[in-house]
Amino acid sequence: MAQLVILPGKDRSLVRRHPWIFAAAVERLSGRARPGDTVDVVAANGRPLAKAAWSPESKIRARVWTFDPEEVIDDAFFKRRVQAAVERRGMLPELRGQDGLRLIHGESDGLPGVIADRYGDTVVLQLTATGPEKWRRAIISALHRASACARIYERSDSGVRRLEGLDPVTGWAFGEASSEPLAIVENGVRLRVDIVAGHKTGFYLDQRDNRMLTRVLAAGRATLNCFCYSGAFSLQALAGGASSVLSIDSSGPALAMAAENLALNPHLDAHRAEWREADVFNELRALNDQGRRFDLIILDPPKFAPSAVHAERAARAYRDINVFGFRLLNPGGLLMSYSCSGGISGEHFQQILAEAALGAGREARILRRLGASPDHPVALNFSEGEYLKGLLCQVE
Ligand code: SAH
Repeated sequence: MAQLVILPGKDRSLVRRHPWIFAAAVERLSGRARPGDTVDVVAANGRPLAKAAWSPESKIRARVWTFDPEEVIDDAFFKRRVQAAVERRGMLPELRGQDGLRLIHGESDGLPGVIADRYGDTVVLQLTATGPEKWRRAIISALHRASACARIYERSDSGVRRLEGLDPVTGWAFGEASSEPLAIVENGVRLRVDIVAGHKTGFYLDQRDNRMLTRVLAAGRATLNCFCYSGAFSLQALAGGASSVLSIDSSGPALAMAAENLALNPHLDAHRAEWREADVFNELRALNDQGRRFDLIILDPPKFAPSAVHAERAARAYRDINVFGFRLLNPGGLLMSYSCSGGISGEHFQQILAEAALGAGREARILRRLGASPDHPVALNFSEGEYLKGLLCQVE
């Protein structure tokens, strides 16, 4: 097996069990390895540190499979890790019985570059790095065994694959292909999941708990849901008895799916829902000019800062929408504001919201800090896993 030798002094993050080995930490690769091959990671003095998947094209030159230098990376390894990840989901009562559930959350489940989401009896798999690419068959077999799913669809078309030198791979990977439209029930609301063309693996499972909270908070409130995608927050607000729900997204196909979702839930009062295809930045300004006001506003934008490099521009964008979020609230109104940007820390996000409230001339306080649902665990050695942060604020 080839050896990946770490530069003197550059093994600190590995000792702390952070699973990424950046190019700048690598002294050399001794021996030959192809992309995805397992390499022995050793300190400059030869001390074994880990076993990792080699990725010569990526800035993250290797991702650690195990910090136990004795552990063998083989089919049985993936069987163990996948099984453990699936079993973890069975421990928390709120996750039991969910038919939309993240089964594998990459690094935080000890499987860097592997995402698996279950929608009913279908599992959608996304591989984003050379390591899992090499072990695809073992992962699929372990996933089928652990989840007892009927079929697995692969959605390995995330943009980050390009950084690894990988082409997109999509299609049925296991079981009988199905073209039946998929739907899940999330807290009593039926929702379509477009596993072929939808965002991520088809749906934003990470916001499940926060949508549940929205349902509780929405009673009697005029609600504005910005960046609504397929309307999951909007429908929970309706289910919770919102007096009206205005939902905005710039994507026609997302809004078409939202309309379909509303039709799938005849128990909800469709007359209270309004959908608008628009750019949120412009629309918030327009709503303010029209003097519109709301009692509950949800801001769940796409990732403005994929990494720290984009943080400054992203911070401005977050500030802009949140200024309007605060401005458009009636006294006592609630703002649920999110950032899913890896490049913006929770602390930074809170600071941005404080500036936004100042900019809007509103006094506000945090009622609750919000994050991803527990099927998106965060490994303590991998703070990047805590990508979704949210704040529930109330204005005076
Ligand atoms: N809250 C949603 C997920 C939001 S994903 C849920 O719980 O399912 C982000 C959404 O923002 C996408 O649907 C995307 O189409 C939309 N979007 C991105 N930029 C936008 C913009 N400038 N204006 C309006 N919508 C935008």
